[in-house]
Amino acid sequence: MAITTGTLYIISAPSGAGKTSLVKALVDSEAQIRVSVSHTTRAMRTGEVDGVNYHFVAREQFHTMIDNSELLEHAEVFGNLYGTSQAWVEQTLADGFDLILEIDWQGAQQVRHLMPQSKSIFILPPTQEALRHRLTNRGQDSGEIIEQRMREAVSEMSHYVEYDYLLINDDFAHALSDLKAVFRANQLLQHSQQQRHRGLLSELLA
Ligand code: 5GP
Repeated sequence: MAITTGTLYIISAPSGAGKTSLVKALVDSEAQIRVSVSHTTRAMRTGEVDGVNYHFVAREQFHTMIDNSELLEHAEVFGNLYGTSQAWVEQTLADGFDLILEIDWQGAQQVRHLMPQSKSIFILPPTQEALRHRLTNRGQDSGEIIEQRMREAVSEMSHYVEYDYLLINDDFAHALSDLKAVFRANQLLQHSQQQRHRGLLSELLA
């Protein structure tokens, strides 16, 4: 049994805001933070690895997971289904890890409802041009898809008001330091520290 249960973090951003790179840098530097690997019916992009970026599944298998109540949340984004494994989330939090869900605003609403103690973070790009530039430079999608993603990005960004924290990814190092500050501040909350330092507290108050 872990001394403390972990905190669940929801991180959303429009595609191209740099969310995945920021989360990767955070997780690489903090041993107690894990990221959930979602299930999706979308086709694998070049360079993606099954079981690492996503668990890539057929639509039929995804529907079976919904029917078996295996998903904590799920949503359709850009015509593809995405969802989070409930069992994995529960086990990781029980093991004491902080856990990040990189999900869209629809999934965020579902998780907030089910787990009101979760914290949510929205990451914005510095400008619309920067967003378009990042989507174009990824070189993974056609012009038509990029325009569709721009429209979807504006719609996704309109939900920023539902989140606890708002970060602007203008400068990567700065945004990463802001992200680390959110996690650190939450780790230092009195109720978490109390569980972590029970021995010290009873000694100090003896
Ligand atoms: P992409 O296909 O570009 O990796 O992700 C497209 C969108 O799906 C992003 O907004 C991402 O946050 C969202 N997404 C990825 N995994 C999940 C998930 O498990 N649940 C939900 N609701 N959205 C997800």
